[in-house]
Amino acid sequence: MTDPTDCKICGMLQATAPEDVVCDGPHWAVVAMQDVPGMLMAFARDHDRGPGSLSDAAAAELGPLINRLSASLTATGAFEKTSVIYLGDNALHTHFMLLGREPGDERVFDNAPLLARFAGKDRDRARAIVADLRGAVRGPATRPISA
Ligand SMILES: [Zn+2]
Repeated sequence: MTDPTDCKICGMLQATAPEDVVCDGPHWAVVAMQDVPGMLMAFARDHDRGPGSLSDAAAAELGPLINRLSASLTATGAFEKTSVIYLGDNALHTHFMLLGREPGDERVFDNAPLLARFAGKDRDRARAIVADLRGAVRGPATRPISA
């Protein structure tokens, strides 16, 4: 296991601009990824060993978090649905990517279509979507950050 003092996800959260943070709660945090509109990364706040080692509180919030983020992404009108991808255990935090899917998007479960999304970076649009999502994830499970 990686040394917790060298955790790339903890470091990423500290380095993320407030405008790119959807929520920073006690069990989960969600940030926009690299200015790609509708691409989010959610991660458990605890260091763990991946799916199956989530705290009970983080596990209880996982489904509602996915539902609220997905419903909110589609409610922006920019996406018809979402995909959860890369439910990962290659870091000290269980984490996943949530990707807003546009009509006609290629399948995302091979890497090429996902990586192609990086050609469409748009910081203003990505941050506008983050701002829309903040209200949707308010609740006892999360603490939105005010920009
Ligand atoms: Zn960490």
